[in-house]
Amino acid sequence: MNQEYSILKWIVEKQIVSEKGEPLDFHDRPFLIDILSDWNNELVVKACAQVGKSVTFTLKLLFAVKHFHFNLIYTFPTDSDMKEFVGTKVNKLIQSNKHEFQGMDTDNIERKELNDRFVYFKGTVSKTAAISTSADIVIHDEASRSDQQALEFYKSRTKASWFKGRWMFSNPTTERDVLDQQWKKSDQKEWMITCPSCKIEQIMRFPDCVDMEKKVFCCSECKGELSDNDRRGGRWVAQYPDSEISGYHLSLLFAPWITAKEIITDSEGDQEYFYNFVLGEPYSPGDLSVDRNMILDNWTPKEIRTDNWFLGVDVGNVKNYTLGSEHGVIKVGKFNEWQVLDDMMAMYKPKLVIDAMPDNTMAKYYVDKYDGAEMSFFQENNANPQTLVWWGEGDKKGIVYSHRDRILDQMFDYMIRGNMLFSVPTDKILKDYIKHFETMRRTKVVNNKGIERYVWESTTDVDHYVFSTLYYYIATLSGVGEVDFFKEATENDKPVFIGNDNVVGDISDMFNRVNP
Ligand SMILES: [Zn+2]
Repeated sequence: MNQEYSILKWIVEKQIVSEKGEPLDFHDRPFLIDILSDWNNELVVKACAQVGKSVTFTLKLLFAVKHFHFNLIYTFPTDSDMKEFVGTKVNKLIQSNKHEFQGMDTDNIERKELNDRFVYFKGTVSKTAAISTSADIVIHDEASRSDQQALEFYKSRTKASWFKGRWMFSNPTTERDVLDQQWKKSDQKEWMITCPSCKIEQIMRFPDCVDMEKKVFCCSECKGELSDNDRRGGRWVAQYPDSEISGYHLSLLFAPWITAKEIITDSEGDQEYFYNFVLGEPYSPGDLSVDRNMILDNWTPKEIRTDNWFLGVDVGNVKNYTLGSEHGVIKVGKFNEWQVLDDMMAMYKPKLVIDAMPDNTMAKYYVDKYDGAEMSFFQENNANPQTLVWWGEGDKKGIVYSHRDRILDQMFDYMIRGNMLFSVPTDKILKDYIKHFETMRRTKVVNNKGIERYVWESTTDVDHYVFSTLYYYIATLSGVGEVDFFKEATENDKPVFIGNDNVVGDISDMFNRVNP
């Protein structure tokens, strides 16, 4: 390969500009320079969001077709992802740098030609067949969100090439997809920075490199503050230098335009988002298991009533409910007749969240009849994946949406941390209540595109109290100062520790032993 003509030299000499027509500036993205000029045939980049990886690879692609006379295939998860990217980035880059790409057609979205060399753009999930022509490099954008079988297929497209390039990059999802496998086989380069105080060179990791109190980045060893320039002044160091696959890991921890405060805020939200899009790591939580102690440890004999009531109702043949204050659960039970719910609405005037499935006729009746009543739908927020709960507006008023599996994660996490108290009688109802929680399992599922994610399932489908409690929990999020009051509540009112119940027996007996 003609190494004399470097891509960096090309950018400078030919005054290559960005898709916006601005000079390419690596001041805040020094970590992209090595990725840009790395011509290893196998490249893998696992990365956080919004660091410029797609544009970096587009520059490489354009340079390779022009100066190495390569044919290339560039894939995206779907055809519409492809169309958007080619329209807003690739075509703009070509148009902004006309002097270098004279004759390269921007009308044809899927196929571009320059001096008898081709670039194909293609979604992995597509109504039309995969590109069957051979290429020198296949580039996979958002590999973790692409059809995993299609990625395997494209491996065969470079067999006839001497270069056999396979480059992929993505926000990771969970472990063991193609990106993660390739990363594990790679030399695993991490951006290492040197602490100006103690001179120790280190990988920036969360939470070691974040001072939670001062809200600044700090050295993991001496805790001295790290400036934006310290973060800029890193270098790539391979953890496994003998590997022939070149791998890079990009995280927002060393993006100079991101503050420690932003990192802390993101770390307190949806964990899947935080891992995938901020840390650039797969999200593979350990077994978040649900057992009786999660509830018993939070049981308290104290009064936790306030003037505020929150009620969650799960709808099925039998209706289950969870009623409580902002401090925790006070009453649980089930009913058959809707009149019971009307009576509760009249007596407590609670914030109500009621299951809108399988039939929302009654849910709608309560939403229309009572102030502060909302019906719950499970949905993912595609526009803003970090949002787990959001409230409908306009004609969607009275509807609360939430991401089923992630909001369950969040609720169980709250319970495990002792933030939801239980001031309920220790009777058979509580025993049933606990049983429902004990049927919950978090499992990894793989969809037909080969993409993995975690979902909560009940082993028996008898999980009604789990969902009535989830709706109660969502109700508490709706008004009175967000989630923070839970923290306040537990600080002033520590739960009584009941202890491990290794002997499975009557809960009432056990409570009597502890609280005679
Ligand atoms: Zn230090």
